[in-house]
Order: sequence, then C-alpha cells, then structure tokens
Amino acid sequence: MLEIKDLATAYGKIEALKGVGLSARSGEVTCLLGPNGAGKTTLMMTLAGILRPQRGSVRLDGEELVGRSPAEIVARGLALVPENRLVFPALTVRENLQAGAFRRSDRAGIRSDIERMLDRFPRLRERIGQLAGTLSGGEQQMLAVARALMSRPRLLLMDEPSVGLAPKVVAEIFGIVRQLHAEGTTIFLVEQNARMALQVAQHFYLMEQGRVSFSGTPGELAEDDVVQRAYLGQR
Ligand code: ATP
Repeated sequence: MLEIKDLATAYGKIEALKGVGLSARSGEVTCLLGPNGAGKTTLMMTLAGILRPQRGSVRLDGEELVGRSPAEIVARGLALVPENRLVFPALTVRENLQAGAFRRSDRAGIRSDIERMLDRFPRLRERIGQLAGTLSGGEQQMLAVARALMSRPRLLLMDEPSVGLAPKVVAEIFGIVRQLHAEGTTIFLVEQNARMALQVAQHFYLMEQGRVSFSGTPGELAEDDVVQRAYLGQR
C-alpha cells in the first residue's frame, strides 16, 4: 500500500533522511522505532508533503506522492496525526474536527462523521464547544486522531501518539489504534514505547541516523539483541 524508496530529506546541510526504504501493508499496523534524532518525524513530515525530499519516491497504492502539496496528499488518502498532538488551540473541538474535513464538500457526510467521532471519543462530545488549547494532553491527542480521521484516510500516520501522556491515557490511545486496525484502517505508527507497540503492530522498522537498520516481525524484533537491549530492556 505504502512504498517508500531511497527517500532523502535535508535541513540545509543536515541530512536527516539518507535514503530510506520501507513499506506498509494494507490493513496492517506498521511501527517505526528509533532513538531521538533518528529522523522519524522528518520521515512523517516528508510523507505528508510538509517537507520536500531531495530524492526518492513515496507511492500510495501505486500513486507517486512526492512533489504533491500536503492538501493533495490528504485528498489521496493519507492523514497525519502530528507529533505533540498539534491541534488548533484557538479553535473549538468542533471546529478542529471540521478542519480535518477541509478537502471534503459533502456536508451531510461531514456532519455524520463528526457524530461518529463523538461516539468514538465521548470525552470530546462533552467538550465540543471548548477551545482545543484548554483540553488535557490526552484529550488533545484524541482530538488530533479524530481530526485526522475526518479526512477518511486510507492510511493514517501517527507520530509518537503516546509521548508525554500518563500510562492510563497511553493505554487508551493504544486501544484506539487496536480498534482502528480491527476496522481495517492501515496505520503507520512512530513509537518509542516498543512494549505497547508490540501489542498492536504486525511489522517493525528501526531507524537510526537517517537510515533503516532493522525490518522484521514482532517475533524477529523480540529476538534481535540490539533492539532487545535498547527498546525492551535486558531479558
Ligand atoms: P524525536 O524522537 O526526538 O522526535 P526523530 O527521530 O523524530 O526524533 P527528527 O526530528 O526527524 O528525529 O530529526 C532528525 C534530524 O534532523 C536530527 O538530527 C535533528 O536535529 C534534525 N532536524 C530536525 N528538524 C530540524 C530543523 N527544523 N532544522 C534543522 N535540523 C532539524
């Protein structure tokens, strides 16, 4: 479904991605692990069209995304839940959800999708008229996920959705990932919490210094000594 080949992105002279190749299969949860500064967020921003790569290719169901604008990429079925749950703080919960549907013009469909999001995230329903900036961290993360889903994506990218959240909220977020997976959503997840990721993902990649250094199943991940030490603690 998602095929990334030889992707290179730089900030001036800093080469954050040095030829990344990986793929995500339809209906699966694919998880990208890696230390701080490895280039994970840069990869997500490049996939979403926010950063322009110097070379390489990103294909979604065969269609090239490199060179397209973020809005065109959303229209082709890819939505990003950005790092640090970037919601629009000065907009209400409802307005944030509407913003997620900015490429759509089916007003009745948008209204019913907002209802579905409020059923899925009851806490957002209670806070529908509240400014997003006044929500708790966990609620903002729920809103960021719901906003991304409003574009009806075929592929959902999630950049470290659990970072900085209390364990109970982290469990809730992973519950949502599991639920979305069960409904058939394809998810590409950046996560530092390998233990939680092992419970939801079918394939793992490890990225270090702008390159993919490991690719394997959950079983292979748990068998890999380096990964084991770095992400799962000593056996
Ligand atoms: P983290 O887990 O800390 O978010 P990451 O794996 O997402 O890390 P990136 O944020 O993609 O890593 O950063 C990759 C490299 O690019 C790092 O060396 C970082 O310092 C550099 N970098 C990131 N953003 C910028 C920027 N706006 N300008 C210059 N360099 C940047």
